[in-house]
Amino acid sequence: MDKTQAVQEPSIQVPALEVRGISKSYREKRRELPVLKDVSLSVAPGEFVSIVGPSGSGKSTLFHLIGGLTEPDQGQILLQGQDITGKKGHISYVPQQPALFPWRTIEDNVILAMEVFGVPVREVREEARKWMHRAGLGGFENSYPHKLSGGMQQRASFLRGLLGRQEVMCLDEPFSALDALTRSDMQHWLLNIWEENKRSVLFITHNIEEALLLSDTVYLFSSRPATVLHKVKVPFPRPRREEIAEDASFLALKRELTQYMREEQKKMLEGSR
Ligand code: ADP
Ligand code: MG
Repeated sequence: MDKTQAVQEPSIQVPALEVRGISKSYREKRRELPVLKDVSLSVAPGEFVSIVGPSGSGKSTLFHLIGGLTEPDQGQILLQGQDITGKKGHISYVPQQPALFPWRTIEDNVILAMEVFGVPVREVREEARKWMHRAGLGGFENSYPHKLSGGMQQRASFLRGLLGRQEVMCLDEPFSALDALTRSDMQHWLLNIWEENKRSVLFITHNIEEALLLSDTVYLFSSRPATVLHKVKVPFPRPRREEIAEDASFLALKRELTQYMREEQKKMLEGSR
């Protein structure tokens, strides 16, 4: 075997993001609610990683921890090898609800992340307009958020995240509020953009098909307290096309993961009785 090959193994690459042994409980009155239990995962540079888990299992809590909005009881968050546990502003974060500022125009919302990084305003506006055009938001630059449909607001919120200068993007169920058709359009759109840009992405969804369509790696989370049940490498080639979802191997993998999730949902329902 050629020795240089071993040196180039991707496993020695420093992960863009590493979640190491995170545990977290919420304390309410005298009760303690364990939400995350020894969760570890990593996102390689340019990798698209999804987390699929039952509703209420602790997925958004994990994002709050990664974003430094709350602190873990145990464990660390590392960004390119640096400890960022409890620190804000290091990742770009697209929340479940678009959360656009109603008093700012769409363009002013989209440029927010770049403004924060001190990119010159003219440059920022040029870049934002180019992307808004690509996202089907051309002509709406000066509109206010309430004038836009849910899908358009979501795209604006996504662009704000995309144009931030952080290496890692965390997306929390960004398409869950959309109808099936808009959702499919948005998946397609995200896939194209990501394949061009190759940002490191951590994506939360409860939709297994969506996770398989978009990701390189899928982590299946258990019911609360969430732990990693399975880590699945998605074997389908890139660029991905939607037709892959009709492939026999895709359907088989989807069936397998769906079965795992059903079992978890059941445990959760039984636990809450
Ligand atoms: P998911 O995103 O997987 O649906 P969350 O992380 O939002 O789950 O919530 C996990 C659990 O933690 C839920 O039972 C929720 O009610 C609880 N929870 C979330 N945030 C808080 C908080 N700030 N204080 C107390 N409990 C919380
Ligand atoms: Mg959530």
